[in-house]
Amino acid sequence: MTQHSPASPTNWDAPAPEPAPRPKPNAAGLSRRELSALVQALGEPAFRTRQLFEGLYRHRYEGWDRFTALSKPLRAALAERAALAWPVITEALASEDGATKHAFRLDDGQQVEGVFMPYAHRTTLCLSSQVGCAMGCTFCATGLMGIVRNLTAAEIVGQVVAMLNHHRVPPETRVNLVFMGMGEPLHNLDHVMEAFRILTDPEGLALSPRRITVSTSGLVPGIQKLATFAKRPRLALSLNGTTDAYRSRIMPVNRVWNLQALAEALEAFPLEKGERITLEYVLLQGVTDSLEDGRRLAAFARRFPSKVNLIPFNPHEGSGFVAPSEARVSELCDLLAARKVTVSVRRSRGQDVAGACGQLVREGGRHKKKEAAAEPVRRGLP
Ligand code: SF4
Repeated sequence: MTQHSPASPTNWDAPAPEPAPRPKPNAAGLSRRELSALVQALGEPAFRTRQLFEGLYRHRYEGWDRFTALSKPLRAALAERAALAWPVITEALASEDGATKHAFRLDDGQQVEGVFMPYAHRTTLCLSSQVGCAMGCTFCATGLMGIVRNLTAAEIVGQVVAMLNHHRVPPETRVNLVFMGMGEPLHNLDHVMEAFRILTDPEGLALSPRRITVSTSGLVPGIQKLATFAKRPRLALSLNGTTDAYRSRIMPVNRVWNLQALAEALEAFPLEKGERITLEYVLLQGVTDSLEDGRRLAAFARRFPSKVNLIPFNPHEGSGFVAPSEARVSELCDLLAARKVTVSVRRSRGQDVAGACGQLVREGGRHKKKEAAAEPVRRGLP
């Protein structure tokens, strides 16, 4: 498989590689259309598609033997034609703050990661959309890997079902999904949207479209394409810098679509009533936390309906960066609020197991936790 250098600003010009087709299909994660083809191939009536869809996504069955509404011969015929295998969780690292980082092994042996975050009245899952990433953000461990391949829609849905089953989450639980794991979701938009349709189908997992968010590094053509879907996930932007000079250094995508191009794309993005674009902004002491940064951030945020998440850097060994002072975080909040910008302060969860944004990386099955998380930061920031 081709591995692109994350340093090249043309990595995202071309579609990311796709996985090789499996000799035997896997029903776990298939869409209605694909399940319908399976049902037709078996010469079964059309209503079987609905039974299969409900079994997979409402009941989250993990084997054909669980489909007791189907006859034994039909279950045997299904097993002959298709596997039923959700992504295998090979590692589950629990953080002190309650988050659990999971490693998933995919059919071709590649690995991706996802994070499970339980809260009092909801559960949030952080998902991967690609193996590796082409965007090459210098602070990100995944960016170091370069792009390996897209995840299929089935592999994206599979992460959700595997985590919900692993943690025995009851079906009535409110579930939020964020595409903030490995990969740039807008670089794999077709599969992300196919997964979105499966995840929000009322006869399956029935997740609310409003509770699914894709976070982009600023891939403008992807933002424009997402804008064309009538039903789509919410949009977040990983902003992290308020000048082109700085942002281009840490996020190479900014060299192609700078802050002005990005703001124009976001201004043109059609929003529902009450919907806002989330701007994620990591605060590094002496690097991104000046009051001048705050003023520029406010000016950017006011160009379209938005809310700002300030994320104070959580220092780790070897990063070379310092967390902003609490006083400065509070000053910036006041500054933004005074300019009528909705702002909140978000603390990353899962830091002690390298499950926070920019810390997800797997290579050859080995977890590169500290080294991988530390190196790009040293490389990319002053
Ligand atoms: S921060 Fe996101 S877009 Fe940037 S390299 Fe990492 S995974 Fe890719």
